[in-house]
Amino acid sequence: MPPMPSADITQAEAANELMRLAKAIAHHDRLYHAEDAPEISDPEYDALVRRNRELEEAFPHLVREDSPSRKVGHEVAASPLSKVTHEVRMMSLDNAFNREEVEEWVQRIRRYLNLSDSDPVAITAEDKIDGLSCSLRYENGELVRAATRGDGQVGEDVTANARHIADIPQSLPAGVPEVFEVRGEVYMSKADFAALNAAQEEAGGKLFANPRNAAAGSFRQKDASVTAKRPLKFWAYGWGAASNVPCATQHEMMRMIEEWGFPLSPFLTVTGSVDEMIAHYQEIGRQRPDLPYEIDGVVYKVDRLDYQQRLGFVSKAPRWALAHKFPAEQAQTTLEAIDIQVGRTGKLTPVGRLAPVLVGGVTVTNVTLHNRDEIERLGVRPGDRVVIQRAGDVIPQVVENLTREEDRPAFTFPDHCPECNSEAVAEEGEVDVRCTGGLICPAQRTQRLEHFVSRKALDIDGIGSKTIAQFFALGWLESPADIFRLKQRRGDILALDGWQEKSVDNLLASVEARREPDAARLLFGLGIRHVGETTSRDLMKHIHELPALQQLAERARAGDAEAVAELTSIDGIGPSVVEALGDFFHEPHNVAVWEDMLSEVTPPPYVVQTLDSPVAGKTVVFTGKLETMSRDEAKAQAERLGAKAAGSVSAKTDLLVAGPGAGSKLKKAQELGIEVIDEAGWAEIVAAAG
Ligand code: ZN
Repeated sequence: MPPMPSADITQAEAANELMRLAKAIAHHDRLYHAEDAPEISDPEYDALVRRNRELEEAFPHLVREDSPSRKVGHEVAASPLSKVTHEVRMMSLDNAFNREEVEEWVQRIRRYLNLSDSDPVAITAEDKIDGLSCSLRYENGELVRAATRGDGQVGEDVTANARHIADIPQSLPAGVPEVFEVRGEVYMSKADFAALNAAQEEAGGKLFANPRNAAAGSFRQKDASVTAKRPLKFWAYGWGAASNVPCATQHEMMRMIEEWGFPLSPFLTVTGSVDEMIAHYQEIGRQRPDLPYEIDGVVYKVDRLDYQQRLGFVSKAPRWALAHKFPAEQAQTTLEAIDIQVGRTGKLTPVGRLAPVLVGGVTVTNVTLHNRDEIERLGVRPGDRVVIQRAGDVIPQVVENLTREEDRPAFTFPDHCPECNSEAVAEEGEVDVRCTGGLICPAQRTQRLEHFVSRKALDIDGIGSKTIAQFFALGWLESPADIFRLKQRRGDILALDGWQEKSVDNLLASVEARREPDAARLLFGLGIRHVGETTSRDLMKHIHELPALQQLAERARAGDAEAVAELTSIDGIGPSVVEALGDFFHEPHNVAVWEDMLSEVTPPPYVVQTLDSPVAGKTVVFTGKLETMSRDEAKAQAERLGAKAAGSVSAKTDLLVAGPGAGSKLKKAQELGIEVIDEAGWAEIVAAAG
């Protein structure tokens, strides 16, 4: 484990870094999953995810609403398939990369469950196939719906497609539970993948990057007859919603699912110690090159289902499961060129173009080089031989430059923006080089408009990057408010190639549907520095209306201590956000854009959603010894019920749960007249809430 980062970075820095990580990871998730076009390597991606996790562990109160740790896979992209909401969320898995992390996970489980070292904890182990997760819903034994994972909560309806996969039974034997969702992986074998790509090439069709993408592309078809022609397979690894789970352990339930007619991993077994887990992992790793399908690791699950129930979930992943990943695969190739891309905030990102090379069965042509420092660190120039690496299924990175010679001229990172020719500089202490062109930079302006209409901001359908670029070039879109004035250009749009009455009307209707947007989305859509999706929501939860936010920000910038205190008292809002808001509203152009926008849209006051439980919205403190659960489990329960678990008693505390040995906190709560209950009382509240 690397040292915890809390010692060397401030809270504001951590908040900023978490924001950047959330954005970066979401960006790479989208490229990888939705567009099948990754641009960084697996280990690089994993490094981002780990850094995010370390920061969240060190600063738990800074965990963002859009944190990558809360998300599973990609959001459902614009897709011809209809959407399906999962009754039970499809989770993702936490990763481990070495024995120490596996040991730590087992220890964490023991602590959480309050088990002693002598209590046995059985753990299942099976290989993790590299395919596409799918949930199959059976009602009265009949397959009624198949859905992809999507973002974990909402997937795509692929029922018609699933009916063409021979491994998926259309009906189950008599006596199965009334409702049962079998979950597993749709995949393509290595040989079938190679044959499909050969056929595609001959027919001049699209080539797939790897078996996983081939399986996804074949399965997620509007026309299920295309799926029928593709050699897809399926195996089960678990279950979702079930009217009844007739077993007490994971492996018993999996064997029952096997009896119902589903293939399972041939490696599925039950282990009793970390040594056995690692031995199984090594055996699977030894056989990996010869397996007929791609795998990227081994999955461990706590076998007892009552333990799984108690362990529950932490944001996106169950505490009771872990993916132990295999190490990266490497190859050599030539770096042919370094291109520079300009983003919404003006950041110049170097992208390496490679001579195509196979790495672990996947053709790689691009790598991200991150930033100027990374290029310097590697000492790379076009023409160099490089070692690239990918692990499992994600995005490649350069790990070594074989041509490295210290005395030759280095690659010159541009000091001007390739899009607008403005000066490009790195601010003091920043590694990223940014275009200073701001509003004159077409790349930044169009990307800001794209951000404004994007799914997490105003979520306007039917206006993608091509349309924005085209309308921008025609001078129709200067600022966000112009999107709401497009209706005045209905005739002009119709006169463009590729637009018909219907498509223009659809576009204008989806714009009109956003006249009363969610205030937090609108704020996020403006792309103010440090004001990301979660920060926007945190601000609006407390301030409710945008004009009030503007006033507070202006007062804070003028040095009004009361305004600063009001803003920084909000959970998750630090000095950097206050400063960024103040700077934003100090710039007359921004105020003009802001007021222009508010002349076109009317966001209703932001309303906070709370769960229906007697402690929803309340602040609960746990103290003393808890006997049936760990402190973490108690806090997780409180959060599920919509309550906030705090560490200390104050006037804001609503409820104290005190176990034996409670001391100063109990005394303080009694002095303040705060309600005090014991662990049994808490258990009743939890049970009553279901
Ligand atoms: Zn520029």
